Amino acid sequence: MTKSYGVHWFRRDLRVAGNPGLQASWKKHEGRVVGVFCFDKKFLARPDFSQNRFAFFLETLVALKAEMQALGSDLLVLDTGPHESFTELLGAIKSHDLPMPTTFSFNRDYEPFARARDHEIERLLRGQFGLEVEHERDHLLLEPHEISKPDHSPYQVYTPFSKVWMKKFETEEVQARVKTQNKGLSYLKSCIEGEKVERKFKLSWSDIFKNKIEFKDVLETYRKKNQTGLKISLPPAGSVNALKHLSQFKGDRLAHYDTARDIPGIPGTSQVSIFLKNGSLTTSQIIAYLSLKPGKYLNELIWREFYYHILHHFPSVETETFQRKYAKIKWENDEKLFSAWCAGKTGYPLVDAGMRQLNETGWMHNRVRMVVASFLMKDCLIDYRWGEKYFMEKLLDGDLAPNNGGWQWAASTGCDAQPYFRIFNPVSQSERFDPAGDYIRKWVPELAHLSAKEIHKPWESSRLGQYVKPIVEHSVQSKRAIALFKSA
Ligand code: FAD
Repeated sequence: MTKSYGVHWFRRDLRVAGNPGLQASWKKHEGRVVGVFCFDKKFLARPDFSQNRFAFFLETLVALKAEMQALGSDLLVLDTGPHESFTELLGAIKSHDLPMPTTFSFNRDYEPFARARDHEIERLLRGQFGLEVEHERDHLLLEPHEISKPDHSPYQVYTPFSKVWMKKFETEEVQARVKTQNKGLSYLKSCIEGEKVERKFKLSWSDIFKNKIEFKDVLETYRKKNQTGLKISLPPAGSVNALKHLSQFKGDRLAHYDTARDIPGIPGTSQVSIFLKNGSLTTSQIIAYLSLKPGKYLNELIWREFYYHILHHFPSVETETFQRKYAKIKWENDEKLFSAWCAGKTGYPLVDAGMRQLNETGWMHNRVRMVVASFLMKDCLIDYRWGEKYFMEKLLDGDLAPNNGGWQWAASTGCDAQPYFRIFNPVSQSERFDPAGDYIRKWVPELAHLSAKEIHKPWESSRLGQYVKPIVEHSVQSKRAIALFKSA
């Protein structure tokens, strides 16, 4: 093997179809590309690590590895962080006089941790091994540096950001980028239909190693270890399943999204966030597949890009309030109230239904995320960071930028946030968005016997049964929350 080849480093782009970094390398090396993934101990030790999300990530990696192999390539999964893994891997190839790759490719990430890591790895690969390093845009359609105010400063408010985003979206360049997804989408459709996959790659790790070196693939080890004690059942993972899932949203559900998206008792939203999180599906694929036009659904995808824009330009939001004046809020942080909130035992049915949906499935409806977040801060007077961390521990779609954005929005500490004096009333939210109580009955079965009239305020009913009484009184606590903000 004397021809050039490339290595693609997968991170949060766990798919083959329409993967820009992988595709560019594939073209350059005429199909001779292999994949690598490394478990970074620093990443796994993050305080927001989630066993649930990691389990889904591992299942997605399993699907990706099988897909790479079926296509004639392979994915090597290594046990150390990228610095150590690549030094060892490339060192071994070199010392055994085997052909070295010429390029390393990856798709860009925008989180502070990932950006620092990528700079370091690029220096290592170029400096120590003389490789070309190529990276592409992937998980955002428009990258944070591409949108700015006329004076070049970053936007801090969604509406003007989204207007500029839409203008760029309509340009030929961006539309062409969306169209390039069609080829990958038809490949995925043929996979869904069970058609035989053509071997498109021309190189695997065993062709490179030639029995001279061996690297232990640790994917199965991690998978088995992480499954112990896992309490939720995972949806089918991988890019083929992601598209299958999205196909159920196309048509009627998309057509009714504007009105159905706020009703937690029906499948009114697309539930694609778990696939977007690990890149088994991307925004550009969604837009291409749904032939998406301006409207509510596209707006939601723009919210996601907006929160990445904020995290990129204001990385301190990861740990601090966006609005500095609210850094001084003296949250009460009562641990008993926090435990009741986590367990879905606050005595407020919609809040409890949401928390139980989260605990039992690893996902929660957006309307209810807003209600439970508001309740934690403005009824329990607990620091939003406690809730943000709990969400990250449980959510399959837990993602720093939109999670932090959502929490700071609800906490009124964020960039384009809910004003502090506008506080969600958990009872009227429940009456408005779950009028018949379908969602509550599903997740809080001890209230299932109550009528639609009783279910939102069960403490007023003589048939309360086993269900808890409210842990706080909304009318009292919301006044105290306003006072906390005023004093800050
Ligand atoms: P759909 O309604 O079908 O929307 C399609 C896609 O648009 C979503 O998958 C998502 O990528 C994006 N989107 C939708 N709503 C929002 C929003 N409000 N902000 C940003 N992007 C949005 N989203 C995450 O992906 N990860 C998180 O960790 C996360 N944490 C949140 C925490 C709080 C407190 C709040 C209020 C919101 C959070 N969101 C988060 C945003 C939103 O709740 C989820 O993206 C949405 O519920 C996912 O379900 P879906 O795919 O059915 O959404």
